[in-house]
Amino acid sequence: MAYKYLFGPVPSRRLGISLGIDMVPFKTCNLNCVYCECGAAEKHSTERKEYIPADEIINELKSILKPPLPEYATFSGGGEPTLNSGIGKIIRFLKNEYPSLKVALLTNGLLLYDKKVRDDIVLCDIVLPSVDAVFPDVFQKLNRPAAGLSLEKYLEGLKAFSREFSGELWVEVFLAKGFNDGKDHLKALGKYLRELSPDRVQLNTLDRPAASSGVLPLSKQELRDAMKILDVKGIEIISKFTSRREIASYREDKEQLIADTLRRRPCTLEDLAAVTGLKIQELNKYLDVLEKEKMVKSKMQDRGVFLIYNDRNKK
Ligand code: SF4
Repeated sequence: MAYKYLFGPVPSRRLGISLGIDMVPFKTCNLNCVYCECGAAEKHSTERKEYIPADEIINELKSILKPPLPEYATFSGGGEPTLNSGIGKIIRFLKNEYPSLKVALLTNGLLLYDKKVRDDIVLCDIVLPSVDAVFPDVFQKLNRPAAGLSLEKYLEGLKAFSREFSGELWVEVFLAKGFNDGKDHLKALGKYLRELSPDRVQLNTLDRPAASSGVLPLSKQELRDAMKILDVKGIEIISKFTSRREIASYREDKEQLIADTLRRRPCTLEDLAAVTGLKIQELNKYLDVLEKEKMVKSKMQDRGVFLIYNDRNKK
């Protein structure tokens, strides 16, 4: 069966093996961030409705979710998932029918001021909202919200959610040079994040062409400096590495071991960890590079998600 709203499961750097769920048509969002990988939005979407009927997504989930299950079902894709008013129904379906499957939500968090939205997503295991700006001018310039959306309400909504939510809250902060990396802004952002007290804060920067020209990434050193100024417990850098040279601990012999193992036979991530002796977190780092270079691809098979070496794309 070809799936319209599901993708993967794929190994994800942040969540292990994850089945992606697209909740809205491409680039349906209440923000229009300058760094968005989906390209520039022609128009903001602020209305909350069933852009894609929840029952259609549930039917696809019923068809794909057979043992062995992926680790996560993740609401993500090219737009803001909480804009789909059917999200609560889908989360309840997943938690009732597949209790061992973890549910994650990538969101810009803008609608969390709305109690109905918070109630819809409260059963998730992990919610990963973004917070890039705490100054209104930075918010306008970087995230370019739809008219009438208030930064204050957004930041307060996120705090309200963090009080009500018993799962894990991982905040992503996306830094773009000259937009939100000024010292005063980083200090104020750090203060907000300390008050919010999420389980994790993950710093990211650009690794693919941005929707708007003139948007530049921070270097690894600049990210480290920003991390110090933010001064938040549990903060880490998760920017995607663009090449082997940018990964401090990248070892060619480990890459070779992974490639050789997969060349001999396709493996699940767990098999690969057992054969190579590498931890899943570390494997994902190498798989990111190998997948980006199309040397490895993942495919769902009867016994789970298999990583397959692509012989036609040698280095
Ligand atoms: S919130 Fe996400 S999908 Fe929406 S514009 Fe920003 S980066 Fe793109």
